[in-house]
Amino acid sequence: MLNVVLIGPPGVGKGTQAGILAKRFEMEHISTGDMLRAAVRSGSELGKRVEAVLAAGELVSDDLMVALIRERLEGDAADTGWLLDGFPRTVAQAEALKELLDELEQTIHAVVEMTVPDEVLVGRLTGRLTCRACGATTHRTRVEEGEQSPCPDCGQRELYQREDDTETTVRARLEVYRQSTDPVVEVLGRHYPLRKVSGDGTPQEVAERLNGVLG
Ligand code: AMP
Repeated sequence: MLNVVLIGPPGVGKGTQAGILAKRFEMEHISTGDMLRAAVRSGSELGKRVEAVLAAGELVSDDLMVALIRERLEGDAADTGWLLDGFPRTVAQAEALKELLDELEQTIHAVVEMTVPDEVLVGRLTGRLTCRACGATTHRTRVEEGEQSPCPDCGQRELYQREDDTETTVRARLEVYRQSTDPVVEVLGRHYPLRKVSGDGTPQEVAERLNGVLG
């Protein structure tokens, strides 16, 4: 059983790799971005509160995020192992996670930091298309021309550009990452094994690198 934190800037490929790794190691994929977008879609009170924050590329409050993660780590994920994708994103969240794990008698077997150059990130994100039906992502350059192209994963014609994948919001998200999330790597690295992996290259190449580090 493996507990992993995947950390890196938006566009580095965390979501894609998290999906591959979660399947391979049979652990629960916990994506806070997916959880928040699901809340927005459901129209719940929580969704209404976080919708504008997501659209601006800012961060949702630490208290709320920690409460959401607590619920998941106390549940089935404790037995299967888990992969955190998008959390922790601030030093306060990292410290709260350490406390929570101590309380639940769980640990992190690897904190994996993924990196790629900034120009690559902007190009990936502003061209990214997400499937409303299955959540898979692809890039404009890989999608055939047409009114509404099919998703390469599930075949549904539901590809859309996330509201926060526009150039202005992407730059804001990268700035937030540099300020709030970069320091998280150091904080987690004090308590748990830290590994660094380049996220450049094809998804398959990156997956092999990650496999080498975790296997
Ligand atoms: P992601 O899909 O991981 O890029 O997350 C999309 C958006 O959700 C972020 O830009 C934030 O607004 C919000 N979000 C996701 N995870 C967190 C977190 N751990 N703390 C605060 N906000 C978050």
